Amino acid sequence: MMSTSPFPTSQMKLRTTIGPLQGVHLASAPNRKILQEASFLNYRSRPFCSGHLVRQPSVSLSHGNLITHVLKEGENMATASYDAAVEGLKKLLSEKGEELQAVAAAKIEQITAELKAEAIEKPGFDAAERLKTGFITFKQEKYLKNPKLYGELAKGQSPKYMIVACSDSRVCPSHVLDIQPGEAFVVRNVANMIPPFDKTKQTGFGAAIEYAVLHLKVENIVVIGHSCCGGIKGLMGCTDHGEHTTDFIETWVKLGLPAKAKVIAAAGGASAEDQIKKLEKEAVNTSLVNALTYPFVKEGLLNKTLALKGGYYDFVNGSFELWKLDIGVSPTFAV
Ligand SMILES: [Zn+2]
Repeated sequence: MMSTSPFPTSQMKLRTTIGPLQGVHLASAPNRKILQEASFLNYRSRPFCSGHLVRQPSVSLSHGNLITHVLKEGENMATASYDAAVEGLKKLLSEKGEELQAVAAAKIEQITAELKAEAIEKPGFDAAERLKTGFITFKQEKYLKNPKLYGELAKGQSPKYMIVACSDSRVCPSHVLDIQPGEAFVVRNVANMIPPFDKTKQTGFGAAIEYAVLHLKVENIVVIGHSCCGGIKGLMGCTDHGEHTTDFIETWVKLGLPAKAKVIAAAGGASAEDQIKKLEKEAVNTSLVNALTYPFVKEGLLNKTLALKGGYYDFVNGSFELWKLDIGVSPTFAV
């Protein structure tokens, strides 16, 4: 349920306890000491009020009997002298030496990580609630109002299109092209790439195109590029040689290097902005050519059971182009 307050109670409590722990790095012994002292101060300022110290049970239970014992002892002493309890804990820590400090530091590290994970939730935004209300809206407005469509889809799918689009959150093909459920088998990846046929690489894409063409028997493969594509910008900035600074992105977008070479050869003198825009479209053609390296795609094209099309969605100007790949490239429409 949505909380009426933008700050759910648990998060408000979290804020009260995360403060002293934030910014303390736990790796070094001196920092561990600072953190332990900060924890003591936290206990001191709000002694044994479990409502505030949301992680207090974890701390008190983390060292077996040692700290639990001290805290219980401190609780008993709270009315008399909490400072004495803290002194007792410090004394115990100094007596038990590194063994206890290591256990305490590890536990505090775990607690800090948990607190940070909880802090990722933005105040006022409930990620699960958003999905729940989204599905309820879909079910009420679409699913329940179209029993014929969803009844048919329950039996199977027979999409006419395989669409390859970018993962960019602004270019969802269902949204942009008003594609209905059952109409398109969609693959989305960074920069809407089709890798060349290779049984040992990018098998996720291979499985998708094989399934779409051989099992679903789609009649069109459409690759759709778009304006302001981060992946294409990355491709333009990639050097052909040299070290990668990313684990996956550069290797992936370099699938478009043939397109980059074409753009630089044809428009090397153009502005960087123009070159990137040309590359956003030319990379689509490279993907279409790569599609031809799949034997079942080539066969479908020759038998005229399959067509390859390129598209470009410009969300800055609100336009969409579509062209088809024969041997050359010929425009189908631009609106
Ligand atoms: Zn993109």
